Amino acid sequence: MEPERICTKCKKQKSREDFYFSKTEQRHSSWCKICFLAYHKNYYSKNKEKLNPGRLQNIRKAKEKWVSSGRCYTCGKSKLKNSRYCELHYIRSAMRYAFGHSRIADAKILLAKFKTNGQKCPYTGEPLILGGNTHLDHILPRSRFPDLINSIDNVEWVSGVANRAKGTMTKDEFLSKYKIVYTR
Ligand SMILES: [Zn+2]
Ligand SMILES: [Zn+2]
Repeated sequence: MEPERICTKCKKQKSREDFYFSKTEQRHSSWCKICFLAYHKNYYSKNKEKLNPGRLQNIRKAKEKWVSSGRCYTCGKSKLKNSRYCELHYIRSAMRYAFGHSRIADAKILLAKFKTNGQKCPYTGEPLILGGNTHLDHILPRSRFPDLINSIDNVEWVSGVANRAKGTMTKDEFLSKYKIVYTR
């Protein structure tokens, strides 16, 4: 576990308390509180009309109905078994934790990556299930390589078990460490 986190938006290293904790996702956000609030303030002033509370509540209710009938919370297409989102929107939600953005073009690349690597964890060989055991891992960890935080070439899909064990190691460090343990 990293004692400190790097905000994927401003790229400053901050302590854990400087990030909001999401109860539904069971993890800290990838943007620090300052970046998060600045974004929402800006969003609010741009979208005042759309954001009136009664209207928002109706939209939310309609969307919850989608989820309970097996459809994606965001787009209404058929959703993943273990998530409130379809494949693409699940990936975009994972991206919001890994990166400072969730661009749709990059989400599509990450979805293709998921499908071409055999949908298995490169470390443990476990079958990967989107919305289940699957994490987006920085090959070179973001705490040590802040310049590569937003690079989609620097991430791969791994199992949660592997992701937690890898911590702040690079892929090479992780592989050589476990090779030593294994061959001893
Ligand atoms: Zn920040
Ligand atoms: Zn969707």
